[in-house]
Amino acid sequence: MKNMFNYHMPAKLYVGAGISGEVEKYIKGDSVFIISDPFLYSNGAAKKIGESLKGKKVTYFSDIEPNPTCESVDAAAKEARAVKADCVIGLGGGSALDVSKIVSCLTTNEGSIYDYYAGGTRVLGKRETTLMCIPTTAGTGSEVTNVGVYTNKKAGIKMPMVNDEFWADYAVIDCELTYTLPKGVTASTGMDAFCHAIEAYWNKEANPICDMLAMRAMKLVLDNVRTAYSEPDNVRARSNMMEASLLAGIAFSQTRTTGIHALSFPLTTEFHASHGVACAVTLPAFIKISTEEEAGKMQLLAAYLGFGTVKELAEGVERLMRDIQLPTKLGEIGVKESDLEHITEVGLSAAIIQLTPAKMDSETIFNLLKSIL
Ligand code: NAD
Repeated sequence: MKNMFNYHMPAKLYVGAGISGEVEKYIKGDSVFIISDPFLYSNGAAKKIGESLKGKKVTYFSDIEPNPTCESVDAAAKEARAVKADCVIGLGGGSALDVSKIVSCLTTNEGSIYDYYAGGTRVLGKRETTLMCIPTTAGTGSEVTNVGVYTNKKAGIKMPMVNDEFWADYAVIDCELTYTLPKGVTASTGMDAFCHAIEAYWNKEANPICDMLAMRAMKLVLDNVRTAYSEPDNVRARSNMMEASLLAGIAFSQTRTTGIHALSFPLTTEFHASHGVACAVTLPAFIKISTEEEAGKMQLLAAYLGFGTVKELAEGVERLMRDIQLPTKLGEIGVKESDLEHITEVGLSAAIIQLTPAKMDSETIFNLLKSIL
């Protein structure tokens, strides 16, 4: 009998407002290495967690930029090795979390990230350092995936690395950490979560567990992202967005993503759009073509989300994006018609693009991009 689907979620999840201050009980060993970013270090969020770890030797590393580079990874790994980290805590958006994943492996694996990724030939050995991921955006869902995304400066591309050592031991989801998110990041990361959910749902590797998670995640985003955007302290909206990000993350961790994410890589690396913006900008166009192979399933989704047709769902999502000030045209992020061929080519080189429920060839992608220029 053909295997219908697999489901694997090894991370232990802890969800609740304020619980990031209570993580001490999960940490074995003395040396804790907290990876965050300049904002989360300067606003005291990283220190607050570090100070709650009574009796531990805590080291902070905060030199992480959005779309983190392999060079930042190597710099963090050097310090984590120097303090013989027993536990690596990633605190932040997807950028800090992704760095924490590879650094927790490199504490006991020699060499540079380049030895294991982007053409490197070494294979990561078993991770011996505890890995805890605490997201501060809602979001990437990185806390519940076995993916890290890194910018390879040598080749000028940003590409995901998938490795089973990247599953966190602990994912700690505390919506209070998102109250400080600026409007623009609330909007872009919220739509990133929606993209994860819909790409899991229409994915060629979709499965019934992930369908349910993805449907709820999409509903939560549609019902809450406007409020989280306009009322940053709204506890209910922030908590619901955190739940949406988590559920969407679990869903796509099993199925992987599709064309939206494949095309986001060149839009981020070459046009400097944030990850969420680079994904969301093609979302309505992909919704429209998803009926090519998944008309029935997409109609069910549209009805569940309160729309009459899939086209109306696409229009509703585009309206939502405009309400929260996200670009809906490629021209708004600096793309010109002369760039479309190259974006098409780079997007097509990502294997995940073939998990989209529509024929994915140069002509289709070029025309999709042109329709939103
Ligand atoms: P980010 O981590 O790059 O952060 C964006 C900005 O938001 C930064 O300036 C940061 O300081 C700020 N920020 C983060 N939390 C904040 C808070 N609570 N308050 C105020 N400011 C805050 O953004 P992101 O969108 O979460 O992550 C994007 C990265 O994650 C990309 O590199 C993307 O490719 C990757 N990603 C990874 C996965 C995965 O499964 N590993 C999934 C999706 C995306």
